[in-house]
Amino acid sequence: MSGKFVRAIFPGSFDPITNGHLDVVKRGMKLFDELIIAVGRSPVKNQLFSPEERIEMIAELIGDMPSVSVEGFEGLTVEYAAAKQASVILRGLRSLTDVQYEFQLAMTNRAVTGIETVFVMTSEQYGFTSSTLIREVASLGGDLANLIPDNVHKRLEGRFSRLREQVQRK
Ligand code: ADP
Repeated sequence: MSGKFVRAIFPGSFDPITNGHLDVVKRGMKLFDELIIAVGRSPVKNQLFSPEERIEMIAELIGDMPSVSVEGFEGLTVEYAAAKQASVILRGLRSLTDVQYEFQLAMTNRAVTGIETVFVMTSEQYGFTSSTLIREVASLGGDLANLIPDNVHKRLEGRFSRLREQVQRK
């Protein structure tokens, strides 16, 4: 790479962050001088963790990654990127199904502001991991230890065991 300083943002919902996301972060860390994990605050349906909780979990995981930080953001990703003077949007790809949606998103973002999107492919073992699936399996009491970091695992267990207790009491 040239000597130019490159700051990238890695935007997403991260509800919650998975080992797949972390894999993308670690790959991105090698490519960019600075990487900001940007947690979208826009109202999402079926939200499990609040943006603050999601940010907290991510902060616990990046303590030993000096070039990586985490922040919440509202509104358009491209506007957030411009405000941060980031020249790259980092996104992860799991499968061909991801490509179609990500392609549209990247083309739109580039048409609007000229910002480039860089894609990295996840490790094979995380190719099927999604936050949606994690939320579903965790709600049914399944074991997800290999797919999510320990701190996320603990919080998920706490959240769902409380919910199950409430349901049983009714
Ligand atoms: P969004 O709601 O914006 O898709 P996500 O938190 O679901 O936010 O995902 C953020 C980014 O991480 C997206 O680029 C998505 O494709 C990528 N991603 C999600 N899960 C994985 C995974 N297991 N491996 C690689 N990339 C992933």
